[in-house]
Amino acid sequence: MKTLSQTVSPKLDVLIIGGGIVGLSSAYWLSSNRKKVAVLDQADIPNFKAPSGDHMRAFYLTYGKDSFYTELARMSLPFWLKLNAESGQTIFSQTGFLDLANKTPGFETHSLETLKKMKIRAEWIDKKDLGREHAVFNAKALKGALFHPDGGFIWAQRALSLIASLAQKEGTLVNGRVKIVSLIEDKSGKLKGVKDSNGKIWTAENFIFTTGIWSPKILKNYRIPLRPTRQFQIYLKPPQNPGRFRLEHFSAFRLNSSGFCGFPMHVHGYMKLVDYKPGPLGDPDEEKSKAPPPSVEKKCRAFLKKHIPDIASYSESETSLCHFDATKDGDFIIDRLKKFPNAFIAAGFNGKGFSVSPAIGKILSDWILSGKPSLNLQRFRLSRFK
Ligand SMILES: Cc1cc2nc3c(=O)[nH]c(=O)nc-3n(C[C@H](O)[C@H](O)[C@H](O)COP(=O)(O)OP(=O)(O)OC[C@H]3O[C@@H](n4cnc5c(N)ncnc54)[C@H](O)[C@@H]3O)c2cc1C
Repeated sequence: MKTLSQTVSPKLDVLIIGGGIVGLSSAYWLSSNRKKVAVLDQADIPNFKAPSGDHMRAFYLTYGKDSFYTELARMSLPFWLKLNAESGQTIFSQTGFLDLANKTPGFETHSLETLKKMKIRAEWIDKKDLGREHAVFNAKALKGALFHPDGGFIWAQRALSLIASLAQKEGTLVNGRVKIVSLIEDKSGKLKGVKDSNGKIWTAENFIFTTGIWSPKILKNYRIPLRPTRQFQIYLKPPQNPGRFRLEHFSAFRLNSSGFCGFPMHVHGYMKLVDYKPGPLGDPDEEKSKAPPPSVEKKCRAFLKKHIPDIASYSESETSLCHFDATKDGDFIIDRLKKFPNAFIAAGFNGKGFSVSPAIGKILSDWILSGKPSLNLQRFRLSRFK
């Protein structure tokens, strides 16, 4: 027979469902403010099958004219630097970030204007200087590049483990392998609790759903309009002179119009290339094959042939499949659930949620602590999809 503690959780201020980067960041801020918090995840934390459980995630402040996202990134930057300083580990490799431009004016020149207006450090590199300073890129195919030294990339799994342990030090309960299967409403219309797959009921004053691509499943009765898209990441070994691609000499880069973003070579000798253009729809729990269709490699080689010809002939490579939690308009969802004033959702990050997760966690935490969000979140409301 089950005892009471096996069936009902201790009284919590906030229960966070989803132990990815957004859930853990929220737990960090809430527990730093003395809230009694628990984070539950259906898998181990880090969940290597979820987007947060990857190796590396890019951090940049360049969003074209969109200063709102730049502001979220700017708010997040001190947190990533603080993790490095306080842990003595490299969580954030601040290599700088290079936005290659094949059209001017365009995304990169608009980003430069935004950064200048916001007094964020950035420099424009002319075509001829690009050929000299960043010789691995084929400057002939480009108009120039924007470099901002505050960018770089985050070692994602390390970040997740560290933030989980910091939240635990502040008293947060972090539990993997607890899958929430249903919601329990009380008579006043608030969310009273959630039930896990073992029948245990978890009660709290407030709930945050940071369940990423799985959000439409757990919140199936509450219309969460996001769809998982299939995204392939390619890891390739530079065929010659690999030293040039090490992070001491090579920064994370992107050519926004192509969708491609690349990372320096990591310890196992592989560089990562990701296509950020949303792929076809796919269910992460029902993928029969994780092998990419031939078109993925073809597109990758064509990009490299034009822009980094020295590695286009790579022969050693691996791929991995991951999913974006995509919304129709490409904007995030950060809102209360209409039905429950004490339940919040943060999802729909469209391939750009990791880098700004410290800001998202802080916003959710402030919202719960003060009763209103610290930033105007109109843009991210659920009702925009009607
Ligand atoms: C290929 C790819 C490249 C990307 N590159 C970048 C990048 O360079 N920079 C960047 O900033 N972002 C990037 N992103 C996006 C970023 O990884 C995500 O936005 C971010 O990790 C989302 O974090 P999350 O915490 O919202 O969700 P997730 O990481 O999806 O975590 C959700 C968690 O909820 C758990 N869960 C779900 N349902 C339940 C349930 N019923 N009960 C309990 N637990 C549950 C899951 O197990 C999972 O661990 C990329 C994404 C992909 C796919």
